[in-house]
Amino acid sequence: MKTYHFSQALLPDGWARDVRIAVDGDGWIAAVQAGTPAAGAEAHAGIALPGLPNLHSHAFQRGMAGLAERRGTMEGNFWGWRDVMYRFLAVLDPDDVSAIAAQAYVEMVESGFTAVAEFHYLHHAPDGRPYSDIAEMAGAIGRAAAESGIGLTHLPVFYGFGRFGGGPTDPGQRRFVTGPDDFARLVEASGWALRGLPDAQVGIAPHSVRAVTAATLNAVVAAAGPVPVHIHVAEQQREVDECLAWCGRRPVDWLHDEAAVDQRWCLVHATQVTAAEVARMAASGAVVGLCPITEANLGDGIFPLPPFLEGGGRFGLGSDSNVRIDAAEEMRLLEYGQRLRDQARNIVAGGEGQSTGRALYDRALDGGARALGRRIGALAVGRRADIVLLDAEHPALGGRTGDHLLDGWIFAADGRAVSRVWVGGRPVVVEGRHVSRETVRRRFAATIGRLLAAQ
Ligand SMILES: [Zn+2]
Repeated sequence: MKTYHFSQALLPDGWARDVRIAVDGDGWIAAVQAGTPAAGAEAHAGIALPGLPNLHSHAFQRGMAGLAERRGTMEGNFWGWRDVMYRFLAVLDPDDVSAIAAQAYVEMVESGFTAVAEFHYLHHAPDGRPYSDIAEMAGAIGRAAAESGIGLTHLPVFYGFGRFGGGPTDPGQRRFVTGPDDFARLVEASGWALRGLPDAQVGIAPHSVRAVTAATLNAVVAAAGPVPVHIHVAEQQREVDECLAWCGRRPVDWLHDEAAVDQRWCLVHATQVTAAEVARMAASGAVVGLCPITEANLGDGIFPLPPFLEGGGRFGLGSDSNVRIDAAEEMRLLEYGQRLRDQARNIVAGGEGQSTGRALYDRALDGGARALGRRIGALAVGRRADIVLLDAEHPALGGRTGDHLLDGWIFAADGRAVSRVWVGGRPVVVEGRHVSRETVRRRFAATIGRLLAAQ
């Protein structure tokens, strides 16, 4: 048992001072006590928050960050970006993926994300054949998670088809494609590959409405049992247009008509939706996975958050393409997109006098923990000891208390506000730096240098 003492902490029933948190040997919170002296505990004069879950990541895409920002040689839109991404991933081997993912995860933890849902579709060798261990790539992700310490919900992707209604895949998708039976083997083998990680979970991710049929979607969901189910949906207008042309329905409507969408599900993006679709998603209990930095980078559009929240909808945040990795920036950009569209301020805050930063944080904790299917997202007994410590001396935080601390971090601070991070009770960030930062950075730099030289 290890005991910590924090000068301020955000607990489930609100802010508290002089908080002792005891962590058991397996990384779970065993006791929380407010208003008590440090008395033998490891004392930190800072602000303790529950670590933020990152509900949507494609870790390998960190390696191509900034390489698709040039206009001219291809379509200046999402589909041109996807072509660049397909060329980048065509040659990656398991060690490359592990090196890139470790860099992404180190940056996540340094920014305040303590858990990640890895939406993992790079399954097979470059020629499209399965590795002799079908879960070789899941193992590569697991090694990166272990090195970074981040909590992992691994989501093997089911990618059955290349276009709506069961159309053929392209050569660029051959590393992703499986049939339902191979997919079931892959999910099981992924669980074995990750069994050494503390509290790792395995869910599933049907890639998108265009990569499944109703029959295969329901088959893989039924075979997986009670685990998280994540799916990309309605990210782009072209996707909506193609879905309408195929079946006369929009992707979010199709999904709710054809599958039993409930609170196990995470609907990623859902950018292009009607008011009726917003109401269906909110009523389903599913978490909507919003990825504001990536959605801005790819020009996806802005999610209609006010009607979704009024309908009781839940959301969490994801870093998706990992073009930038910053927990506070995801929250800030989510709110700013809404402000720019509505020409108004404090959109996510629930009512008069409420803090926007607090509303963003509470909702991202709740939606993220639910989407990851893990006991995280609160400093409370029985939850994982995932703790982010903000520096009380940071200029944007000094002299503040309560919700002003979250508003200061999200809207006014920079990346240096996070001073320490524990994941499962293990210290992984100390004085703002991940304990393996240099090792991981050097291997990442060598990997990227070799990959780009060969392009
Ligand atoms: Zn994605």
